Amino acid sequence: MLVHPEKIPRLIGGRLALDFVNAVPTSNELSWSHLIAFLESAGIATPERGGELMALSRSDPQAAQALLRKAQGFAAALRLALDAILHKQKVQREWIDPVNEILRITEGHDELIFIDGEWEIQFVASESGLDWLLAAVARSAAEIIAEGPRALLRLCANPKCGLFFYDTSRTHRRRWCSMTVCGNRHKVAAFARRQASVRRARP
Ligand SMILES: [Zn+2]
Repeated sequence: MLVHPEKIPRLIGGRLALDFVNAVPTSNELSWSHLIAFLESAGIATPERGGELMALSRSDPQAAQALLRKAQGFAAALRLALDAILHKQKVQREWIDPVNEILRITEGHDELIFIDGEWEIQFVASESGLDWLLAAVARSAAEIIAEGPRALLRLCANPKCGLFFYDTSRTHRRRWCSMTVCGNRHKVAAFARRQASVRRARP
């Protein structure tokens, strides 16, 4: 359960990187609690870990600030890259750097570890640290950028919405982030317009 007051948009992106960009506000700064709320709602951090992270802004504000800045820069760069892909334009190297910077920390190796009487393969990271919280998002971003113009990336057709989503519909003609939210609003508006013109047409 989320205990944070921040409103995280519904996770409708269909890809983790899209949910991340959708969750990061464009008009104001990303707050620490907002970032943690996203990590929790996306299942990257458990509520317990979320609580520990919340406390970090007091116990180690510099570390929290550093991750926050990284997340904000990454989201801004990713948004530019997604916009470019959406408009079939070139993705600039400077937007890629923040993605690669996070991917780089995921270096490590597999190791056999003896757990409860059995040998299991476990990934051993060469670096620990907070940047790991963004690793899965960076991986998802890298996959979409590598798909490039083939990516089934869409922006909701409601100009006031601004949410990205990945169109996995059979016909690839999905227009709305959510039929029940933006799609329905559009249908209701269109119906009202038709009704108004019918009324006007009557003698
Ligand atoms: Zn929408």
